[in-house]
Formats: sequence, C-alpha cells, structure tokens
Amino acid sequence: YQKYPHQPIFLQCVEEVALSLLPLFSDDNEEGQFYKRAFLAMTEPERVISFRVPWEDDDGNLRYNRGWRVEFSSVLGPYKGGLRFHPTVDEGVLKFLGFEQIFKNALTGLPLGGGKGGSDFDPKGKSPQEMKRFCQSFMTELHRYLHPSTDVPAGDIGVGGSEIGYMYGTYKRLTNRHGEGVLTGKSLAFGGSPLRPEATGYGLVYIAKLAMEDQRKKDCKDDKDAEDNNVLKGVKCKVSGSGNVAQYAAQKLLELGAKVMTMSDSNGALIFDNDNDNTGMTQEDLQQVMECKNVHRGRLSQLEGKVSGRYIPDATVWNLPPQQNVACEIALPCATQNEIDESAAQRLVEEGIYLVAEGANLPTTTHGQEIFRRKQEEDGLVYIPAKAANAGGVGVSGLEMSQNAQKLTWTTEEVDDKLQSMMKEIYHQCQTGGDTTTTTTSSSSSSSDEKEEAASMSLEEGANRAGFRKVAHAMRELGWVQ
Ligand code: NDP
Repeated sequence: YQKYPHQPIFLQCVEEVALSLLPLFSDDNEEGQFYKRAFLAMTEPERVISFRVPWEDDDGNLRYNRGWRVEFSSVLGPYKGGLRFHPTVDEGVLKFLGFEQIFKNALTGLPLGGGKGGSDFDPKGKSPQEMKRFCQSFMTELHRYLHPSTDVPAGDIGVGGSEIGYMYGTYKRLTNRHGEGVLTGKSLAFGGSPLRPEATGYGLVYIAKLAMEDQRKKDCKDDKDAEDNNVLKGVKCKVSGSGNVAQYAAQKLLELGAKVMTMSDSNGALIFDNDNDNTGMTQEDLQQVMECKNVHRGRLSQLEGKVSGRYIPDATVWNLPPQQNVACEIALPCATQNEIDESAAQRLVEEGIYLVAEGANLPTTTHGQEIFRRKQEEDGLVYIPAKAANAGGVGVSGLEMSQNAQKLTWTTEEVDDKLQSMMKEIYHQCQTGGDTTTTTTSSSSSSSDEKEEAASMSLEEGANRAGFRKVAHAMRELGWVQ
C-alpha cells in the first residue's frame, strides 16, 4: 500500500488473493513462512516494458499513445496474457490483469507464465485505417520482446481478430519468422485454433453448468433427478457486455436452452423480457448483436427496433431501475472490472440470484465480493471467481501454441473436448485448493488438514490457493524463493 498507492486496482486484486491465502501464511511452521515469502515475491512483476506508440490519424496528424507489456511471471512458462486497448489502461490496470493471469494460467495446467499488455489508445471512433496504423506501430515496438518461448500476447478489450491480424502481419514482416505461436487468437487462415474466439464465453458457461450439476447432486436425494444434465434449460441469465466474452457466453447459453435476458455496452443495456413474457433473447437477436459489434463496430442503441429486446440508455445490467429490472437466477458479468458494486451485489442477492460466474476480470468490487461471500456462507450462493471462470480463453490460447509448435490444426470437436476437460479440472481445483500431497515437504498429518481445508473452502479460496500453490512450489524448485 505504501509502494503503489497510485495503483488501487492492482492493490485490490492482490488483497483479494491474499485474503484467500491467509490460512496458509502461518508463522508457526516453515511452510507457512515460505508461502509468505513466495507471495511477496509474486506481487512484484519480473519486468515492465513501457514505450511510445506514434501513429498517424486520417487527417495526417502524428499522434502518440503509451504502450506497455507487464511481464509478470515466467515461473511456469512464457509470459502469457492479452493486450488491452482502452483509454483507462495504465500500468496499474495492466499489473492487476497480469497478476490475475499468473494464477489463472496455473489453473489451466498448461506451462504458461503470466503477463498483460496494451495501450491507453481508444479504439472508439477510429477508422479501420487508423486502427491498422496504430496496431502496426504498437507491434513495431513490442515485437523485440516477443518469442514463442518468451512472451506470447493475445487479445482483450479493444483487441479482437482484426487487430491480432494487423499485429501478426507486422511481426512477420519485421522478423521474417512465420508460423510461430507468438500471438494467439490468430485467424484460422494463418495458424489460429478452432474455437479460440468462442473459448472464454463457452468455458464460462461450461464451468457454471458443472457447478449447477454439482449443486443439484447435493440437493437431490433421487440420483435419477441429479443425472438430468440439462440444468441450464429455462434458467434466466443476466449477461453484461456485448464483446467477445459476452457474445459467446450468450451463444452457448442459448444452445443449452437457457434464457439470456440482458446484454450491454458502455452506453446502455438491452433487456429481453419482451413485455414480461420472459422469453429472453433469440438466436436472431444474438446475430444482430454480433453483426453490430463485430462487423460495424456499432453501439447497441442502434439495434432498437431491430431486436426483440428494449434498449435502456445510460443503464448497466446491474443498476436497472426497479420497474425495468428482470429478476434472474444466474449472473455472468462479461464487460469490465468493478462493474458490480456493493449495491448491485445486494440487489442481485435480494432478487434471488443463485450463481455468479465472472467472465470479465475482477468484475466485482471488494464490497460486492463481501456480499457474495456472505450469501455463500448463509445461503449457498455459488460464486465462481474470474480466474477460474474465464480461464477457458487462455486455455485454448495454450492449445493454439501447441498446435503451432507441432505445425498442425485440431478439429473444433477436439478443441471443444479439451476445453470441457480443462474446465472440469479447473472446477475440481477450485473444490480442492490444489493437491499438495505430492510436494516434498507435505507430511501425512497435513493431508488430513487438507481434507478439512477442502471441506470448508469456497470456490474462490480454492481457485486462489490452487493457482498459488503451483507457482510457489515451482519457484522453490527453481531456487527463486527459499
Ligand atoms: P471486448 O472489447 O470484446 O468487449 C468488452 C465489452 O465490455 C463491450 O461490450 C464493451 O462495451 C464493454 N465495456 C468495456 N469497458 C466498459 C466500461 N468501462 N463500462 C461498461 N462497459 C464496458 O472485450 P472482451 O469481451 O474480450 O473482454 C471482456 C472482459 O473479459 C474483460 O474484463 C477481459 O479482460 C475479460 N477476458 C477476456 C478474455 C478473452 O478471451 N477475450 C479472456 C479472459 C478474460 P463497448 O462496446 O461500449 O466498448
């Protein structure tokens, strides 16, 4: 807090992880002291690269933005994490995203370190030519730090398939290295993986479904009822955002028979309660949203009259006026950090939400999380934190790197199978907090402690502990922490 008071969002996410790890930080034993030292070491990025990005606008003016790459942790593998182009980006935001990424990547089970990058450049209102010139200039600087075994960025807010294409095109021209997995989220035409665009949203719905099936098993005395795997059928869901994650979460929800009641962008929200018959969004509505956002880079307000839902300007999914609100069972925040504050979280639990799975990174404020944790303890709310819930995207990015290295492409079905297995394994780690019985210092007594720990642990604590333990133990073996 003394060193980085100017980076509040970074402090917020470090505190969130630390809270879950507190029981591991015992001063009474060597392991507890080691964990404390390892955690402190992890909070300091290995390297922060900051650079100027000059670019020419359509009027011929030379303009400048700042670019960054936070190479946070290479403990488990090359730095891996997306690039964000948004005016709110600064070093603190990228440190928060890079820190989250370390644990998320560890949960995937793939050899991936953590990093994040981007620029304070605002893509809104820019022409396609301006976007291309900016991406080319950004990569002209960044390319010197990238390599498939060093640092492999992907997309994030403001960086989709076209931007990855322009950056990869620049990388190829500057380096004469082709077919390398140095960026993920590439088009299928030049080395991308099937299902990478869909992976974060699909993975989010897969893990939500697993948690619901698990809950149903606990609630159902009759095993036959528990086996009914269509737990999402007819369930009303609030989705926020209308970008990559939100679109594919909505697509998978519709495919599984759930009702998508909302979507939003930074100017307003679409509500699909359709005069209170609560049918939710249709496939055609989703197509309209995708075309508006992906083809025309438009605003949801332009869809009024073209989709079955109604548009509410200046509203978010979480602060709808009571008479406009639609009560749902599931909340999937998929827009940005801190979108659900304390009062929004309170309203969600009051309207009877029973599962929150975070598609965006840290979408819930500290006070909002406290409300979810309380509801979880008192009433069994299922709260799946971002680093587990949205890990499918980076997971399939890891699979894209594997395909590039082997110079082959798997089928959509193969990637989907691997994604589903990965989300299952991540959910398992959230339940267990990571298996430490294989580490050299574990004793048989700690194994019964672990069983006790797992029984009382939330999914949030489990995700943080499992990711942390993997990285901490690897750091010890590398001789980076004693
Ligand atoms: P996109 O740029 O595709 O979409 C972002 C969406 O969120 C847009 O609808 C955007 O609205 C909205 N949004 C952005 N900033 C704000 C804001 N300040 N207030 C309200 N709405 C806002 O990004 P992604 O879908 O890729 O990313 C969404 C979230 O998911 C981010 O937190 C990202 O870090 C996280 N994530 C993404 C992954 C991926 O694979 N893409 C992987 C893991 C996490 P508008 O159109 O008006 O800008």
